[in-house]
Amino acid sequence: MSDDAVTNLNDAVIPFRIENAAVRGEITRLKHSINEVLKDHNYPKPVAKLVAKAVALTSLLGSSIKFNGRLIVQTQTSGPVSMLVVDYHADGEQKTDGKFRASARFDADKISELEKTDDASLLGEGQMIITIDQGKNMQEYQGIVALDNISLEAAAGLYFGQSEQTLTEIRLAAEFDEDEATWNAGGLMIQSIAAEGGSNADKSEAELKDAQLSDWENARALLKTVKDFELISNSTDSQSLLFQLFHEKGVRCYVEQPLQAFCQCSPERIEDMLSQFSQEERVEMATENPKKPGFIQVGCDFCGKEYEFTAEHFAQ
Ligand SMILES: [Zn+2]
Repeated sequence: MSDDAVTNLNDAVIPFRIENAAVRGEITRLKHSINEVLKDHNYPKPVAKLVAKAVALTSLLGSSIKFNGRLIVQTQTSGPVSMLVVDYHADGEQKTDGKFRASARFDADKISELEKTDDASLLGEGQMIITIDQGKNMQEYQGIVALDNISLEAAAGLYFGQSEQTLTEIRLAAEFDEDEATWNAGGLMIQSIAAEGGSNADKSEAELKDAQLSDWENARALLKTVKDFELISNSTDSQSLLFQLFHEKGVRCYVEQPLQAFCQCSPERIEDMLSQFSQEERVEMATENPKKPGFIQVGCDFCGKEYEFTAEHFAQ
C-alpha cells in the first residue's frame, strides 16, 4: 500500500455491510484532518475531545444520509459547552472529499471545576439540531432531538429512531496521544435494515422480521465489545477492525469517503460582515479594541484565523 492510501484511510469514512445479515454501517477515522481543525483553537482538552467526537459523528451521519450540500450538526445546551457546531460538506455520490469545520462555545472556568468530563457533564440539557441544506432549489431539512444529560452517540441514536425509524447504534472515541502530541478520533455506526433475498427468499414476513431482529442483536452485542482505543488505534485500521468484529459472517466494505478539514472564511466575507455596521460603530470597534487599539480584529470561530481592518478602510 502506498503512503497516500494509508493517509487516506486515516481520514475517511467507510460504508460497509455485514454479509448475509440485515445490518449495514459506517466506520470513520480522523487523524490529520481533526488536528487541522483543532490546532488553532486552544480548546481545553475535554472540549477538544467533544469537538473531535462530534466531527466523527457528523462524518458517520453524512455518509449514511445521502445528500448534496451541507449537513450541520449543532448542540445548544445548558452545560459548560453551550454550543457545538460541525459544518460538513459532501456530495451524495461521494466523488469528492467530505469537508468539515467545527467550533465550540464554552465556559472554561466551569469546565475546570467539573469532576467528570463525559459528554453529559459537558453538555447538560438542551437539544441537538441536524440540518441538511442542499442548496437554493431544495427545501432545507431540520431534525431536532432532546439532548438531556446523554452522550452525543445516544442523541444521534434517538435522531435515527425518531426521524428515520431506523434502529441505530453508534460508538465514538477521541483521545490525545501525548507521545505524538496529536488527536485521534474515530467512530462506528451500525443500522438495522430490512432482511431480504438470498437465503431468506422463502421466508414469511414474520420470519424475516425475526431474522432482522436477531441479526441486529448479534451485531449490537459485537459492537459492545469494541474498546475506545480500538476505534482510534494506529495499529488497527478501520477495515481490520471490521473484519475482527464481524469475521464470522463476513463484511463487505464499499468505497471510502476521504475527509478533510476546510474553512470558508476569507477577508472578503469578513469585510462583507463588517460592512453591515455603521461607520460610527466601526470606529468604536477599532478605538475600543483593547488588544490593538485602532484596529478592528475579527477571528473566525471555525478555524481561528484572525482578520484585521481599520475603520478608515470602510470610509468612502
Ligand atoms: Zn475560518
